[in-house]
Amino acid sequence: MHSTGSFEFHSHTHTHTRWDLQLPTGPDRIAAISQELALSRAALERRLGYSSDHLCWPQGYYEADYVDAAVKQGFNYLYTTENKPNLRTGDPLHIGRVVTKERSAAWLGQRLAIYGSPLLSHLYTKLRKS
Ligand SMILES: [Zn+2]
Repeated sequence: MHSTGSFEFHSHTHTHTRWDLQLPTGPDRIAAISQELALSRAALERRLGYSSDHLCWPQGYYEADYVDAAVKQGFNYLYTTENKPNLRTGDPLHIGRVVTKERSAAWLGQRLAIYGSPLLSHLYTKLRKS
């Protein structure tokens, strides 16, 4: 799939655990997240022969110290489910992504059309916030 150029594979952590629901804020939680990121990178390298500097947070959830931990692990592009347009001048540590869940292809096509246009994306995210 990767060699066709149609698909890319990136980290989504190793176990998809929401550590904010498992451990209190502090060094143990950051250590757990850091280990998740390292294990994820190692699994991709072992199975695919490479890993990238892109990371998609499970359920889009992150905290400021998660971002620091990810950057220390070499991740430079971090994806969240925050409802915001992605612009060329945007912050690569806070890239919006679409939550698809079990939606139809038509629904996804509409979202891709909306988010593919800076103007539509801006208007749509403003409407959703109001
Ligand atoms: Zn997920």
